[in-house]
Formats: sequence, structure tokens, C-alpha cells
Amino acid sequence: MTRVFNFSAGPAVLPEPVLRQAAAEMLDWHGSGMSVMEMSHRGKEFIAIHAQAEADLRELMGIPANYKVLFLQGGASAQFATVPMNLLRGKTKADYVNTGQWSKKAISEAKKYCKVNVAASSETASFSHVPKQAQWQLDPEAAYVHITSNETIGGVEFHWVPDTGNVPLVADMSSHILSRPMDVSRYGLIYAGAQKNIGPAGVTIIIVRDDLLGQALPVTPTVFDYKVQADNDSMSNTPATYGIYIAGLVFQWLKQLGGLAEMEQINRAKAALLYDYLDQTEFYHSPVARDDRSLMNIPFTLRSADLDKTFIEETEANGLTQLKGHRSVGGMRASIYNAMPIEGVQALVQVMREFERKHG
Ligand SMILES: *Cc1c(COP(=O)(O)O)cnc(C)c1O
Repeated sequence: MTRVFNFSAGPAVLPEPVLRQAAAEMLDWHGSGMSVMEMSHRGKEFIAIHAQAEADLRELMGIPANYKVLFLQGGASAQFATVPMNLLRGKTKADYVNTGQWSKKAISEAKKYCKVNVAASSETASFSHVPKQAQWQLDPEAAYVHITSNETIGGVEFHWVPDTGNVPLVADMSSHILSRPMDVSRYGLIYAGAQKNIGPAGVTIIIVRDDLLGQALPVTPTVFDYKVQADNDSMSNTPATYGIYIAGLVFQWLKQLGGLAEMEQINRAKAALLYDYLDQTEFYHSPVARDDRSLMNIPFTLRSADLDKTFIEETEANGLTQLKGHRSVGGMRASIYNAMPIEGVQALVQVMREFERKHG
């Protein structure tokens, strides 16, 4: 068996110990005589798996007691619609900050449900930075302020939490949740699809302050009504049971590692290896402003796009996969989520150096 270093933006690398444990428990979970996939979501075994996953996530992120944790389906893309459906609460407007391709998708979906005020945008600067809060034009009547706190395609990350006063802050944290400690109490709602930094595709985590619940638009599908799902432990319908189980194993892996402060140290060391190299060569280039660079998704370009194909071939030949940039921006992108070991980033930098020596 050979495992590659997988730099995919998502679905993405998972911790090897988690995959091994899932394999060992595949046919018979803890003496139940069945795999987790085959269990009733209402049986005592799965209820215990689900409760442990929630408890571990609460501990890892320090989620206050007045926040609900939901494990839903539909991906972050469903949240682009269900956030306005649930959080407008009689209001007609919402503020959005546009920092990249995922912000744009969230904005166009929200426009089906409310008037969107784009409070700030870096689009004319090719999404190379996060606009400073002093330049934002927030609407005090907005139901909420939405940010994409890590833009997976552009590699732009908020390293600070905006101050939105009494207006709830909503963040799409799909690609950097659990990468470092986050102060949940500063947010009204956090959502994240699992397949970047949590587990397999199919689970979406929503962390929501409980005073925001209970005023969903009447057209809201029942399975996407946060209050209904919160009252039913995310089991108003059948949840993505196997995905929740794997997410739970990832939470335990993070706890064993020492938690999110420890994870942050490791992630900073990994990102520094790559950024330091990008900054000291003329051959490669990072398009993102230094203060706003993502620790998770690192796009870069080669001196000439003519070399892109050869670069991909050379990295593949060295067991480094999925480095091609998103089709909308081109170039390369290394996604180095929690589960990417530092050895993977070391191997990448070594191949990049060698490539520069040959083609520079
Ligand atoms: C991947 C991603 C999404 C979309 O996730 P789906 O599961 O495809 O709906 C949304 N926002 C961000 C920041 C992402 O990285």
C-alpha cells in the first residue's frame, strides 16, 4: 500500500489513524455486530456516537452552552439559502462581505430571499486581500453580516474577527474550522461543510446562538429549520450517520493531539515552510497580501504558465497529488489541512526547489 500526499481542496486528506480505526471497526463496531453504516440512527449505539461527537466538538471549540450544534446535510451550499431563511427574523436585508468565489455564491443565493448589501468587496483587486473593517459600509438594519472567513479558492483568510455590534456575525468556516482556536461567542452562526477539515462529504456543521432560532421563513423546508433540528438533536430526518461517526473520530484525534492551540502551532509551521519559500524565490509567486494569507489553502503561480503541465507531472511522479489550482483562477494550489503531515509540505517544497533548479 502506498499513500500519496494529497493536496486536494476537498474532499481532502483525513488523518491516517482515523482511517485505520474506521477500517478496524468496519465490520463490528464495539461488539454491536454491525458497521456504523448499518445502525439505526435512533438506536442506543448511534445516539452515543452522535452525543460523543457533539461533546468533543464543544470541548475542542469551547462552544458556549447557549449555542446549538447541528449536523445537517446539503453542504455549505445549502447553507447559502438556509442561513437567510432562518436568520432574517422579519427583517428584509443582510450584509455580505465579498472576498472571493465562495462569498459570491453565498451572495447570489441570498438574493433569492432578501436584499443583499455588499458591505465591502475585494473583487476589483482580484480577491487578493480582506478589506479592512474601516472601509466596510454596514447597514444597522441588516439581519446579519456574512463573511467567508477562509476563501478556499483564493487562499484569503480572516485573521481577525469583525466587530458587527448587535448585528449577528455569520461565518462560512468550511475550509478552516478546527485549524486554530476561534472565539465562538463572537459569532451568531458558524457553518462548515465537513469535507475540507472535518470528515467525509455529506455532513455540514452549524453552530448557532439559540436566541436566533425559531423565526424561520414559513417556506423553509422542515429539515433545514434550525429550530426543528435543534429540538430533535439533528434527527428530524435521518442524519448522515457514517459521516458523523468519522467526524467524531477526527475530533478525538484532535483532542489526543492536544487540541486546537496545538493544531494551530503545527498549521503555522506547515504554512510558514511554504510561504517562506514562495517569498524567497522569483520563480514562484503568491498572489495574496501577506496579512491575509490562508494557513490552509495556498495558491501560487509559476513564472510561466507554460510550465504548469510539467510541474503537475513532476509533482505527481513524486507522490504529491491534486496541486492544480481551481479552474476559475488557474496556477497551483496546495491545500494543507489539519490532516496533512508536515512531511507532505517538506516534500512539496523540495520538489518545488528541484523544479526551479531545472527550469528556472
Ligand atoms: C467547499 C466550500 C463550499 C461548498 O461546499 P459544498 O459542500 O460543495 O456545498 C462553500 N464554502 C466554502 C468556503 C467552501 O470551501
